Amino acid sequence: MQTLLLWLFYISSFYAFIPGLITRIFGFRVFRKGSGEHEYALTFDDGPDAVYTPKLLDLLKRYDAKATFFVVGSHAENNPELVKRMHDEGHLIGIHNYIHKSNWLMRPATVTKQIMKTDKIIHSITGERTSYYRPPWGIVNLFDLKKRGGKFKIVLWSAMFGDWRERIGADRLTERILNKLQPGEVLLLHDCGTTAGANPDAPQQMLVALERVLQEAEQRGLKSIRVDEMIKAKENAPEKKLSLGKLAVVKLWLIWETIFHKVFRLKTVNPNDPLIHYRLRKYSGQTVELEDGELLQKGDKVVELHFDNEKLFRFGIRSRSTVHLAIQMIRSMEKELPVLAHQVMGISGAKNAKALYGVTMLNRGPQQFGFQVLDLKDGLFARSSQLYLKFLLSVIHPSGQSRLKEHTQRLIPKMILMPINVLMERYAENGSHRPHHEMKRERGNQPEQTADNNDLTLSASAQGLESSTPAI
Ligand SMILES: [Zn+2]
Repeated sequence: MQTLLLWLFYISSFYAFIPGLITRIFGFRVFRKGSGEHEYALTFDDGPDAVYTPKLLDLLKRYDAKATFFVVGSHAENNPELVKRMHDEGHLIGIHNYIHKSNWLMRPATVTKQIMKTDKIIHSITGERTSYYRPPWGIVNLFDLKKRGGKFKIVLWSAMFGDWRERIGADRLTERILNKLQPGEVLLLHDCGTTAGANPDAPQQMLVALERVLQEAEQRGLKSIRVDEMIKAKENAPEKKLSLGKLAVVKLWLIWETIFHKVFRLKTVNPNDPLIHYRLRKYSGQTVELEDGELLQKGDKVVELHFDNEKLFRFGIRSRSTVHLAIQMIRSMEKELPVLAHQVMGISGAKNAKALYGVTMLNRGPQQFGFQVLDLKDGLFARSSQLYLKFLLSVIHPSGQSRLKEHTQRLIPKMILMPINVLMERYAENGSHRPHHEMKRERGNQPEQTADNNDLTLSASAQGLESSTPAI
């Protein structure tokens, strides 16, 4: 018996789990996340449901949001008028098997039958065939990938929230969804609670939460679109035009950054939309005079800044004009510096830090925020910083190389410094006495204009050097 179970385990791993893992890690033949600037995708599984789906459709209509419904074939068969309504109101319909059963528990031929049957039902109601498929519980098997990967696009999700349980409650659900509400995200929700493991009335909570989320999305300028449109947009995205070699370099480099952030415990000003990371450390560079007359010397505490290079990269490949970039960058910094000031106040030990400190190629902009811009003393650190920043720039910007040749003068890494008192006076004046939790809540609710935040291209932080190269 035990041997049999063991064998079953091995076979099932091979058949279901390993492919599942492969798709999750590599996104192989499977769509999980898009790359828009203002678009996200609402997707609903397990319906249609006679009680909740009409309410959901009303809600989506009120907010002019388009969604994707992965319908269970038998439910579609019982509620043809709802499938018709989804179609007529501009939503995309995909397949979620004929009965809600895992592909792991069915032979490949049975899965194919389930899919075909559901496709037929959808076609008979709407007059259109679908080519989008989401397996129940996201469990994909080898056959799904090999055969159906070609005919059907397998769509998973980038975020789910446990909305199939009634006890989660509308408040917690709202909070969870809002945490993930970002461009490109594919959100998984359920408009039917009659499948195994779900609560029949759970969609009631979902509808309450969704209405709040749609309101917030409207505020942030975000719009829900159909998954097929998101796929199309991703295929036309500028990232796709980069060579594979360059993409590989970018991927490796972003992995390195993530490790760096973890190892050195960088904090992020706005974790939902990272632009500035920072950490408290001891200054180890040359002695310099701050504008308030104090000296910054080796061993003094500083708050070291790092720009988020993934964001720089994403924006860099989308940008056309340097002026536009500069304007956007200034706007994003204006939004982040006050938050940073409040956060710095909250860190124990940061109050006696002398300055904000960073190394950047951005030499013209920082003064208006109160930064001093200083030359790095020539030496190993300055030279290796320059090499690293040049490399970053060539990766970040498509015309990076030629830009480098044109403006070699301007692209010298410099040190930017701001005394901590200047940071506090300029950015933490109003409300510096507010309790911490209040600030936190305010940050969470802050509407984010993602387009504006995407914009810091000509600067790059010298992370990686700081830790490996002795500052001179
Ligand atoms: Zn499902």
